[in-house]
Amino acid sequence: MPELPEVETMCRGLNKILNLGKNKERIIIEGMEFKRGNIRSKIPQKQLRSIIGQKLLPIRRRAKYLIFPTEMGSLLNHLGMTGYWREYNGEPLLKHDHFLINFSNGKALVFNDARRFGVIDYLSPQSEASNIWLKHLGVEPLSTDFNAEYLFNKLKKRSGFLKNIIMDQKLVVGVGNIYASEALFLAKVHPKKNANKLNLKMCQSLVISIKEILKKALASGGSTIRDFRQAGGELGYFARELKVYGRSGQVCTACASTIKSEILGGRSTFWCPKCQKK
Ligand SMILES: [Zn+2]
Repeated sequence: MPELPEVETMCRGLNKILNLGKNKERIIIEGMEFKRGNIRSKIPQKQLRSIIGQKLLPIRRRAKYLIFPTEMGSLLNHLGMTGYWREYNGEPLLKHDHFLINFSNGKALVFNDARRFGVIDYLSPQSEASNIWLKHLGVEPLSTDFNAEYLFNKLKKRSGFLKNIIMDQKLVVGVGNIYASEALFLAKVHPKKNANKLNLKMCQSLVISIKEILKKALASGGSTIRDFRQAGGELGYFARELKVYGRSGQVCTACASTIKSEILGGRSTFWCPKCQKK
């Protein structure tokens, strides 16, 4: 499943394809083509068509959603499990190409989603805080809002395994399963530590680790091993640099202990029993 770094990579890739952002080219949405009426949910065709003729502003990311903004509302997209965008040049469509959008600069994009867990929806102007998909989302992990004090104040009210709690999207978005194990290893904190037992210093260390892991993943285009292609079509390379995730039974790169794993909250969890203290 695409995680935050992959979605951010895709966001940057799309702005690059469309030449949006830095050069501030004026691009008008010229048309849309709907190959099916629904993906995970119904596609609101009429509302989306209302932004045809509008100027497209640079594409943004919020959590794992992509927002194609105009002043009259936005196209809101989630990649789901297998969704991706690619530049469309008029070639015959592929199986699972569900939606096309074309622009005044001659560029076009197509959304492909084999498993159809993705979302294409309309977001009315200034409605992010009340939108059904976005209103419950916590702070962005790479923003200054996500800091040691914030994490400490949230965690002191929570009990349960730390790893499950840092993956709660209402607390902070984008700490997916792979990143949670890797960040906890980097911060030297055990995934089964009780969340309310973290002191401010540990929170500081964990915040820094989460940001570092996500930035590293971002620099290499994401971590997902299967089912994901960047806008340019390359697989992410972060997968090769994982320290604990997927390494059960192998030796720790820091201390040579054997990496352990267990299912926590329904998700595979990996840690070094020596480096990570409970
Ligand atoms: Zn170790």
